[in-house]
Amino acid sequence: MNSTNTSSQTSERKKSCVNCGAELTYEPGTDLITCDYCGHQETIEQSEQLFQELELHKYLQEMGAQSHSMEISMLHCKNCGGANQHIEESYKSLHCVYCTMPLIIEDSYQEDWIVPGAVLPFKLDQKKAHQIFKKWVDGLWWAPNNLQRATINPEFTKGLYVPYWTFDAQLVADYEGQRGDYYYVTKTVGSGKNKRTVQERRTSWSPAAGTINGFVDDTLVKATKQRGSQIPREVSNWNLDGLKNFDTKYLAGYVTEKYTIPLRDGHLVANKEAER
Ligand SMILES: [Zn+2]
Ligand SMILES: [Zn+2]
Repeated sequence: MNSTNTSSQTSERKKSCVNCGAELTYEPGTDLITCDYCGHQETIEQSEQLFQELELHKYLQEMGAQSHSMEISMLHCKNCGGANQHIEESYKSLHCVYCTMPLIIEDSYQEDWIVPGAVLPFKLDQKKAHQIFKKWVDGLWWAPNNLQRATINPEFTKGLYVPYWTFDAQLVADYEGQRGDYYYVTKTVGSGKNKRTVQERRTSWSPAAGTINGFVDDTLVKATKQRGSQIPREVSNWNLDGLKNFDTKYLAGYVTEKYTIPLRDGHLVANKEAER
């Protein structure tokens, strides 16, 4: 599991432009937050210390102490029951990312979350993502109306950060059983002209036992289960080499889904994945 040493003092800061006061949003593929109005840019400082992976059992025990959590504002969609959506203050249009119903900022509430250890920032900006999406839909032999409608307005293409737990596991298994080895015997079959020799396979069984070891690195487990937020396994092949130390600035201008599957349960799923 990943987490930084960022303690609970880390608070949400409004990301506004020092020049004009307008909102700053994260610029995909960079380490910058940018003002859409005057073009002012700020660099997201990269901490020297790389994010650490914490030992799960120790961490689970410490969780009560909230040593790695902070408060964030959350919005819940009343229309679709949509996932716990965390919206940075600088987010402009408040619409549910799942059903596009307007969300009301006054309905937001504060909630604790375990600060992510790392974030995989966006690489494509809205324009580029929309182009790719539109091209894909246009190329479909048949596309449902809803899908076609979604391509009309680039504003409908939204970036959503999805939470994952990651686990490393050291696996040890003892096995015990019967080991089968093939051996062949020569037999004579048939009679008269058809008399010939053949090889016949037999198996000799003997008791066997031993231990196998394995290390499973970075098992990713989705930390939410919400309808409408299904990401096919094939797509969620994240490039973890691009991970950055977590900074809320990367979330500026995007919607972030908060985990709804507790760490403890995520760990159980990871165990199952690792056993495969
Ligand atoms: Zn500005
Ligand atoms: Zn919704």
